[in-house]
Amino acid sequence: MIDRFNIAADILKLDESIRQRLQRPEKQIVVNFSIVLDNGKEQNFEGYRIIHNTALGPSKGGIRYDTAVNLEEVKALAAWMTWKSAVTGIPFGGAKGGIICDPSTHSKRELEKITRAYTKSLSDIFGPQKDVPAPDMGTGPDEMGWLMDEFSQLHGRIVHGVVTGKHLHAGGSLGRVEATGKGVSIITLLALEKLKLRPAGSTVAVQGFGNVGIHSALFLYEKGLKVLAVSDVSEALYNPDGINIPELILYYNLNNKSIKGYPNSVTIKHEELLLLEVDVLIPAAKEDVITRQNAHEVKAKIIVEGANGPVSSDADAILEANNVLVIPDILANAGGVTVSYFEWLQNTLVEKWGVNQVNRQLENILEKSFETVFRTVKKYNVSPRIASYILALQKVAETQSVKEVALTAENYKQN
Ligand code: GLU
Repeated sequence: MIDRFNIAADILKLDESIRQRLQRPEKQIVVNFSIVLDNGKEQNFEGYRIIHNTALGPSKGGIRYDTAVNLEEVKALAAWMTWKSAVTGIPFGGAKGGIICDPSTHSKRELEKITRAYTKSLSDIFGPQKDVPAPDMGTGPDEMGWLMDEFSQLHGRIVHGVVTGKHLHAGGSLGRVEATGKGVSIITLLALEKLKLRPAGSTVAVQGFGNVGIHSALFLYEKGLKVLAVSDVSEALYNPDGINIPELILYYNLNNKSIKGYPNSVTIKHEELLLLEVDVLIPAAKEDVITRQNAHEVKAKIIVEGANGPVSSDADAILEANNVLVIPDILANAGGVTVSYFEWLQNTLVEKWGVNQVNRQLENILEKSFETVFRTVKKYNVSPRIASYILALQKVAETQSVKEVALTAENYKQN
């Protein structure tokens, strides 16, 4: 995050003080709590909430449940949220949270207790006009519902807008579950158009079969792309004629949420998927999967970053030299936070939107953002990633400076 930030900041000749201000989070909170497990024993947990920046609005960002969660990672992810909202023009700042835990080893009851205890520790931080969490790796609508309920109980009133990504009946929005994958597919189609490639028959490989991977693969399959390969932690599947994604999703749902053993394909090594000869590669699993080590072997024409940070900064120059068009995470996977914004708006306005309205507005926002990024690519002669950072930094730095000048003027008057 810092590497790319610095390149954009140098181009913008950003003032040193504002640069330092934006490199560090506004607030970092570490919480520590215990719950009683189903077996009667107590277990202690450490959690985080990092508010990176609130210049453009209340801070927004997911909560991650994973054993690998750590403060440094959450800090980077929180900053990414600031840039993501800024690129798409959503009136939110950036935040991220996490709890060090393995959700697959906990019962629903335990996960509920963990979520409620975490919410209690952060009840002064969260709020619809302050900081609005959402799902991320290892969390989903259940966790968001518990968070909303706990927060509402603590504040003595129903507060739907404190969190997004809730179940529909609990104040969620139509289209939110699919939103990130839908956004990835919209951006992929726009990127294909840039290279004058037609969707029908273009080939794609998707790494990761979680919420983002599944929906990206499905929407692109529906647009006529051939999904040659997909993977999850258990297996990587390949079929040169294209995998039937609806059939694979059915198999996955009946097979304990795993693609392992799906018959109409062959298995390949996980690392091979990233190096396949395809038009589009969508890394939608985790961070740093394309690095200096393997970047020169990537044969895809386009990389659309479904996950946050799948391409590490030391791979940027290699991919650029090889003419791989990389659409960065802060634009490519912004569909999730965009529909989160719609959910928050519906909660605030006490409205319910139809799915067509959600999807139409999502498409509008992403198309405009894509165009603006590519205009910036031309203007500064930089990659789409650096262009996205330039756009985001410009907006945040300008607003931050105006705020700070106003505060200084206020002090001056008072003194
Ligand atoms: N966790 C998702 C992200 O990284 C969604 C955040 C949100 O909806 O606020 O973009």
